[in-house]
Amino acid sequence: MDGAGEGSERFTGSFTQQEPIPEEGIAAALEVLRHGRLHRYNTAPGEVAETALLEEEFAALTGARYCLAVASGGYAMACALRAVGVTAGDAVLSNAFTLAPVPGAIASIGARPVFVEVTEDLTIDLTHLERQAKASGAKVLLLSHMRGHVCDMDRLMALCDGLRVMVVEDCAHTMGARWKGVPSGRHGRVGCYSMQTYKHVNSGEGGFIITDDAEVAARAVLLSGSYMLYARHRAAPAPEVFEGLRLEVPNISGRMDNLRAAILRPQLTQLEERVARWGALYRRLEAGLEAVPGLRLIPRPEEELYVGSSFQFRLPDWPEGRIRALIARCAGRGVELKWFGAPEPVAFTSRYDHWRYASPTPLPATDRVLAGLIDMRVPLTFTAEDCALIARIIKNEVLAVQQSGEEAAVAVPLAD
Ligand SMILES: *Cc1c(COP(=O)(O)O)cnc(C)c1O
Repeated sequence: MDGAGEGSERFTGSFTQQEPIPEEGIAAALEVLRHGRLHRYNTAPGEVAETALLEEEFAALTGARYCLAVASGGYAMACALRAVGVTAGDAVLSNAFTLAPVPGAIASIGARPVFVEVTEDLTIDLTHLERQAKASGAKVLLLSHMRGHVCDMDRLMALCDGLRVMVVEDCAHTMGARWKGVPSGRHGRVGCYSMQTYKHVNSGEGGFIITDDAEVAARAVLLSGSYMLYARHRAAPAPEVFEGLRLEVPNISGRMDNLRAAILRPQLTQLEERVARWGALYRRLEAGLEAVPGLRLIPRPEEELYVGSSFQFRLPDWPEGRIRALIARCAGRGVELKWFGAPEPVAFTSRYDHWRYASPTPLPATDRVLAGLIDMRVPLTFTAEDCALIARIIKNEVLAVQQSGEEAAVAVPLAD
């Protein structure tokens, strides 16, 4: 294709369109609607609720001893923090580079987020983590595998074990990912997941908590609102574990329901295949953006099996106006880029210094990385050809905007 042709190409797909629910899930959902027993503890004699089956299946998929399905990913994190003993006023370490529900989960229980710097590879800075742990005295790290970038989990766990910091993993972007073959969510004490529409399985809203710790699991079940019906779970500890806890743990309702569980179960069986498809799309984008002057790709370590449900690249040291100009030019050709450097939050791209309730102190390394960080959603409705086209458009505009030296002066409104 000649230069003029490349300069006029447009992408017409949607960055927010996920795949339909599998027919099997639709059929199972209709069955739940027809019998009307949507509440997880509303079962006919001898019936096992869809929710209990879903938990059993996700526990098997991840190799976890216990699994609890809940109302959202945000609820899963807050519930996990409570279950491991975080109380009001406690400091909880977390990534400065993450999305709003993560510090929100910490704040929801009255605890205090302590943010840790991000590296240029978009993972948590372990040197800064150690410093923040010592300075704050925090006993828990809510580790966000933000945008699916998994840090060196061996080094992280060794560091946290040494500091006696318990790790709760936010796997909203790593369901199906692995580090050295171990599923994401299985390194820390607890793993939390989201089944919200933009994640890797879709029930609109939803969350999972997994753990091998019987007491943490029992507390989570009680917290989620089990009405003392915990014996109906299939991926929960034995009733004896609940004995000493049942009157002590408050009910903070956030259960999963059978309708959403029915939609999710067939999607779990597709997860591995989805991860493979996402990987192929990601690598197509990566190949198309290799060796573009001014643009840096994010290195992916060999040990990481990642889920390419989103794509990031950096434009280090670009002036703000030039980044705005690039985003506007790409938007004009149908390519929706998000920028983590905007001074005000736009759609999901809020930043640690926007979370004022947490009184964040400045983090210069994170500021530098986020100032040049571009993000793009990659729904599975994209084809490999779509990804090749998107990469050609970005490459073309990155080169053009640098050549012209163009800078947009005012904030460009970005579509959600
Ligand atoms: C989506 C998301 C969550 C969970 O969010 P819910 O919308 O509450 O399911 C947690 N962490 C990150 C990084 C997320 O993007």
